[in-house]
Amino acid sequence: MSNINNDQLALKSSRTMPQKTMPKVALIGRPNVGKSTLFNRLIRSNRAITHDMPGVTRDRMEGTVKRSGKVFTLIDTGGITLDSHSAVTEGPAGIRGFEAEILRQSKEAMEEADLLCFVVDGRDGLTPFDDHLANYLRKAGKPILLIVNKVDGEEKAELLMSDFHILGFQMLPCSAEHGFNLRALDEEILSFLHFPEAEFEAYQEKIQNKENENNSELETNSYDPDIAIEVQSEEPSEEEQVAEELQKTLRLALLGRPNAGKSSLVNALSKTERMIVSDIAGTTRDSVDISTNIKGKDYVFVDTAGIRRRSKITDTVERYSVNSSLKSSSKAHVTLLVIDGTDGLTQQDKRLLELLDERKTPFIVLVNKYDLVSKDKQKIFAKDYKEALVYCQHVPLLFVSAKTGFNLAKIVPLATEIRKEYYTRIGTGKLNKVAQEALLTHQPPTVKGRRSKFFYMTQAEIAPPTFVFFVSDAERIPDSYAKFLEKNLRNNLGIKHAPIRLKFRSSH
Ligand code: GDP
Ligand code: GDP
Repeated sequence: MSNINNDQLALKSSRTMPQKTMPKVALIGRPNVGKSTLFNRLIRSNRAITHDMPGVTRDRMEGTVKRSGKVFTLIDTGGITLDSHSAVTEGPAGIRGFEAEILRQSKEAMEEADLLCFVVDGRDGLTPFDDHLANYLRKAGKPILLIVNKVDGEEKAELLMSDFHILGFQMLPCSAEHGFNLRALDEEILSFLHFPEAEFEAYQEKIQNKENENNSELETNSYDPDIAIEVQSEEPSEEEQVAEELQKTLRLALLGRPNAGKSSLVNALSKTERMIVSDIAGTTRDSVDISTNIKGKDYVFVDTAGIRRRSKITDTVERYSVNSSLKSSSKAHVTLLVIDGTDGLTQQDKRLLELLDERKTPFIVLVNKYDLVSKDKQKIFAKDYKEALVYCQHVPLLFVSAKTGFNLAKIVPLATEIRKEYYTRIGTGKLNKVAQEALLTHQPPTVKGRRSKFFYMTQAEIAPPTFVFFVSDAERIPDSYAKFLEKNLRNNLGIKHAPIRLKFRSSH
């Protein structure tokens, strides 16, 4: 690991005591065999880049796994470089390009890891490069566990493993994606590792203290990412959490000026004049949930001054504050920004639109009262809307009418889709393939005589999906090129309407 900044590592290990003594386990294998899926499963969190600090090489990720009171560091050596210039070109005879790069990364892992988890794709069988890699790994003289991945069920295990017996390693079938045999994998890994008892007791005590501290200081937001990972690792996997989240009743916030037609829209959508308004215990009177049922499914419309006015006759003051609007939208999955189509876009609407975009809120623009807009005006306004949305072209715009029902049937399906997109997780293999194609279609421009190189990309977070590009020179990526990449990723990854984030990080 030539690129790690030693000072930073030292600092890190003094914060989380057993860093130095914590056993290390490396995932090694060809691209696309499922290493990063396995990595995310094992660390049970969505922190693909857990050691996201300058100086750490671009091609590996580290996370902390805690099982049965034991803690170890997991290294994913998944990186494939995106442009051939940065790939290592020399290497053993017949091995070039990314294969040489994998060998280089494996070498680093072989030096520092206590256990080498050699991951192969059970469906592909034994490939010549797997064979080569096996010979290479043997040289380390360290324990090797062969993980035969993509065995999506017990019944296929024997058949899919048959190819690999010849390598002579201890072997375990599993499915990173479907969860098959992962508990056995945990146990197998632990059985290879050595844990000094005393250090663990001290470490656990520290975690416990930290937890107590956090509980009593929730408001201060004190947060240690290292500890957070340990605590998180007892929680359900990201996949389970997302599945649970998507099962929850869809919450929609309706924002817009008074009289834009928000209550009329809620009524028209739920085809009833009776809305059940309930104050949530423990919140201010600003927070109101309106439960409704559309075609047999439950939905909740979250707070807005406009809707509330109907149920609280005493509250005659019409308020339209940007702050309370944003508060409502943060309590919903998807926000519907309602515009009065007879007025066109006002300054306030524009401001709200910008803020929602800045905050990466999933939202839809509804231009209401379309039945009242003349053909001439439709043209003029349509141009305004287009201009206003030029910086957030992913945001869908629907012309609707609460009165006639025009386009109302599209709203809920669209909102449901956006919520789903917001939780998208894309595998590293697929991401890099898509990015590589984008780079080939349109290479990065030169800025002040030089062009940034692209090495590798990964998805760091969901909600919103956040993609990180590791590049040689982030300063040399103009906005226009970032926009091109965003558009290309959206098209190829099926994230049409939800907000996403693109980050560029220099790694030398
Ligand atoms: P990496 O390049 O080795 O990190 O591979 P990824 O984790 O990105 O996975 C490559 C592809 O294989 C992705 O499309 C995954 O969804 C898929 N994959 C990973 N594990 C499994 C598995 O257990 N079964 C199946 N059927 N597909 C898997
Ligand atoms: P809110 O303050 O945003 O909740 O707006 P309301 O739902 O109270 O609507 C304000 C006024 O606009 C009412 O008189 C509604 O009848 C009228 N309105 C709402 N939607 C439409 C529509 O699509 N077409 C027409 N013609 N009138 C509408």
